[in-house]
Amino acid sequence: MPVSRRSFPAFCFMLALASGLAAPASAAEEVNIYSYRQPALIQPLFDAFTAKTGIEVRAVFADSGLVERLAQEGRNSPADILLTADVGRLVEAASRGLAQPVDSAVILADVPANLRDPENRWFGLTMRARVVYASKDRAPITAVSYEELADPKWRGKICMRPGNHPYNLALIAAMIAHKGEDFTRAWLKGVKANLAVKPSGNDRAQAKSVFAGECDLAIANTYYMGKMLTEEKEPEQKQWAGAVKIVFPASPDFGTHVNISGMMLTANAPNRESALKLMEFLASDEAQQLYANGNFEYPVNPRVAASELVRSWGAFTPDSINVAEIAEFEPAASRLVDEVQFND
Ligand code: FE
Repeated sequence: MPVSRRSFPAFCFMLALASGLAAPASAAEEVNIYSYRQPALIQPLFDAFTAKTGIEVRAVFADSGLVERLAQEGRNSPADILLTADVGRLVEAASRGLAQPVDSAVILADVPANLRDPENRWFGLTMRARVVYASKDRAPITAVSYEELADPKWRGKICMRPGNHPYNLALIAAMIAHKGEDFTRAWLKGVKANLAVKPSGNDRAQAKSVFAGECDLAIANTYYMGKMLTEEKEPEQKQWAGAVKIVFPASPDFGTHVNISGMMLTANAPNRESALKLMEFLASDEAQQLYANGNFEYPVNPRVAASELVRSWGAFTPDSINVAEIAEFEPAASRLVDEVQFND
């Protein structure tokens, strides 16, 4: 068809219409994520969401600084959703006014009340327990409490990462929430006295230390056991995991401490509708199954079971406190870590 000057706009309109019909209706939609969670875990979930909805997901991944970045960018931030690997950063972001409440019956039905913000500004997506990795050879225990970790019988036998890491801060904060600050200060001093070496490294490094004979008990998150057992890039990690057994510490007062990874809709989310769809998807049975199998965590969605390997570690009674309450005590936990010079 010859395109005359006069008919050119009409021709373009027809082209646009044709291409619009050929492409998925939602091709232009997108969601932007700031993620503390790592790409290897999260990308398959984004891909599943895009395949289902046609909505593109773009993500910035970082280990630190994303809450600060959101705050600095303010209204100009392109981020719609923040994904974190702990409750503390969600609460921090919400308390700095960086979140907006989400009124979704779907999400409320999928995420238990104690694993989300009472004001619906953030939601847990996965749950992990902070447990003891006990040396199979040197500490063949079947039960332990967090309180006992301060018992002198474990003098020089315990390894853990620095006290001010978010995972340990949450554990210490849970102790404060249940037993008060004075009890927790004394407990923390006792645990410090039992450390075999100065706190350093990540959770997997603690299993390595047990494997190497440096300590008999390590404190770490459940899912690292699954990650080490399936680590093909560094197969020696399978030996580290093989040297330890998970023991779920149960406090007589509060059961086993759990933390969440979670999500938050940003205050200024430019793509709010698409972001809500992604949030509902992440809490859904389908995505929760991907989380369970991809990262050895406990799904928050009660209809979805943990993976077979995770179930093989045994059952435990999770602390039923709202994780928001734990986060409230994290500043106090941080102070105690400094006060008892836990990391020195
Ligand atoms: Fe982690």
